[in-house]
Amino acid sequence: MTGISAIERARRLTTQLAAAPQHLLIDGRRQPALSGKTFETLNPATGETLARVAEANPADVDFAVAAARRAFENRAWRQMSANDRANLLLRLADLIEKEADDLAVLECLNNGKPAHLTRLVEVEGSIKTFRYFAGWPTKFGGETLPVSPRGGAQILNYTTREPVGVAGLIVPWNYPLSMAAWKVAPALAAGCAVVLKPAEQTPLTALRLGELALEAGFPPGVLNVVTGFGEAGAALVAHPGVDKIAFTGSTEVGKLIVKASAGNLKKVSLELGGKSPHIVFPDADLDAAAAAVGSGIFFNQGQTCTAGSRLYAHADCFDRVVEAVTAAARKLKVGDGLLPTSDLGPLVSQEQWDRVSGYVDIGRREGARVLTGGGRPAGLERGFFFEPTVFVDATAPMRIVREEIFGPVLTALPWKDVDDLVAVANDSEYGLSAGIWTNNLKQAHRAAAALKAGTVWINCYNLIDPASPFGGYKQSGWGREHGRQAMELYSEIKSVWVSLS
Ligand code: NAP
Ligand code: MG
Repeated sequence: MTGISAIERARRLTTQLAAAPQHLLIDGRRQPALSGKTFETLNPATGETLARVAEANPADVDFAVAAARRAFENRAWRQMSANDRANLLLRLADLIEKEADDLAVLECLNNGKPAHLTRLVEVEGSIKTFRYFAGWPTKFGGETLPVSPRGGAQILNYTTREPVGVAGLIVPWNYPLSMAAWKVAPALAAGCAVVLKPAEQTPLTALRLGELALEAGFPPGVLNVVTGFGEAGAALVAHPGVDKIAFTGSTEVGKLIVKASAGNLKKVSLELGGKSPHIVFPDADLDAAAAAVGSGIFFNQGQTCTAGSRLYAHADCFDRVVEAVTAAARKLKVGDGLLPTSDLGPLVSQEQWDRVSGYVDIGRREGARVLTGGGRPAGLERGFFFEPTVFVDATAPMRIVREEIFGPVLTALPWKDVDDLVAVANDSEYGLSAGIWTNNLKQAHRAAAALKAGTVWINCYNLIDPASPFGGYKQSGWGREHGRQAMELYSEIKSVWVSLS
C-alpha cells in the first residue's frame, strides 16, 4: 500500500459508502432500483453494515438488458475498430492501476481477504487480464479454408468472428473483481455488450469497475451492473434478450442455469466447484510440497474453486508432510484484512461460516480427527473468522472427502500404490484441478495424463494466467476461460461461401 495506510483509506471509503446507497449502473447512469429497494452489504471482519446497495428485480434486469441491446446495435460500439476497442481496454486497465490502492481496500472491506492480497490478486490480476485481452481484438479473426466442391467449382470459403451479442455475466464473492475481469475483458474484447451481476455479498468493486469503464470511454450501455440477489441472476438467465450467460459459482446454481437458459437456447459457459487432489510422491521436495499444500488450501480462507482440499501424500512421507502442513497452519495469522500482519481474513459471511463449521462437525461425526483448527480463532469474537483446519483418519466415502467445503479445511489421506492413487484422486464428481509433487519426470507426466482435471500443476500450485485456459472436467463446468478459448466463448463463427465460377 503506497502513501496512506489501509486503515486510513478504509476510514475514508466507509464514510463515503455510508453517505448514500449504491445505485445500479444502467445505460451509463447510476440509478436506484425501480422498486426503490436496497439491501445491506457487510464487512465480514466486523459483521457490520458497510453499504446499502440497490436490489434489482426482474424489471431492472429487463431495463439493463434493453440498454445492453441498444448499445450492442449502436454503430458507436458495433462498428468501432478493433484497434479502438483494444485501446479502451488498455485505458480501463490504466484506470484500475491508478485506483489500485483504493480498490484493494474496498475489496478487503467487502470480501474480507487481506488488503495486501486483494492488491496482488484482485487488482494486479485484473489489470493483467484487461491488458492481456486488449491484445485480442486486433488478432482474433477468421481464416480461409480449402473446400472441395463437387464438379470443380471455384469457391472462396472464409470464416469471420462476430460478437455473440448481449452477455449476462454472473460472478461469485470469492474473488469479486478478478471474476468480473475474467468475464468482462474477453466479452468486451469480442465486442459484446454486457450485464454484470455481482454476488450479493460483494457488489462494490463491480460497481466501481463499471464506472471506470465509462470513464475509459466505453459507450454507455456496453457495461451495465445490476446488484441484487439470485432472483436478479435468474431473471438474466431466463431473459430472451440475452444471448450468452457466463457463470462462476456453485455447481448447484450452475445446474439451475442450464435449465433456465433453455428458453432461447442461449450459449452457456460455467465455472463451478471443485474438490481438487493435491498429490505428494515420496521422492518430492517435501518442504516445498508441504508449503504449497498449505497455501493451496488456506489461501483466501479456502474459498477458492481450485483449493487443494484433498491431500494425498504417500504413506512413506505422510507423517512428515502432514506435520509440516499442520505446523504451517498453526503459524498463519488470522485477523482483520486491513492489518498488514494478517495472512488470512474472515470467511465472507455468517452463512459461509455456518457451512464450514457444519462440515467440521460432519467430519468429526464421520470419525475423522482434527489435528489443528476446527472453529473460531481465540481473540476474534466478532466477524466471520475461522481457523485453518486439518483432518486425518478420513476415508473415501466421507462427505468431507467428497463435497466442496469452500473453507480452510484440508483432509489428508495416505496412499501406497500409484494406480490406486489415480483412481481415488479421480473418484470425484468434480474435475477442476490437481497438483502433483515429484522429482520423477516420467511419473509426473504419467499422473498429469491420468488425472481428470482441467488444470494440472506439477511442482507448483494455483498458478493462473490470462494466457492459459482455465475450466473444469465433469461437474466443474462447461468451457474454458482465458486465452483464445475465452474469445471463442463470446463470439459466433460465420462461414461464408463465395462462388467464383
Ligand atoms: P452461488 O449461489 O452459486 O452464487 C454465485 C452467483 O450466482 C451469485 O452472483 C448469485 O447471486 C448468483 N445466483 C444465485 N442463484 C442464482 C440463480 N438461480 N440464477 C442465476 N444466478 C444465481 O454461490 P453461494 O450460494 O454464494 O455459495 C454457495 C457455495 O457455492 C459455496 O459454499 C461454494 O461451495 C460454492 N461456490 C463456488 C464458487 C466457485 O468459484 N466455484 C464461488 C462461490 C461459491 P446472489 O449472490 O445474489 O445469490
Ligand atoms: Mg447461493
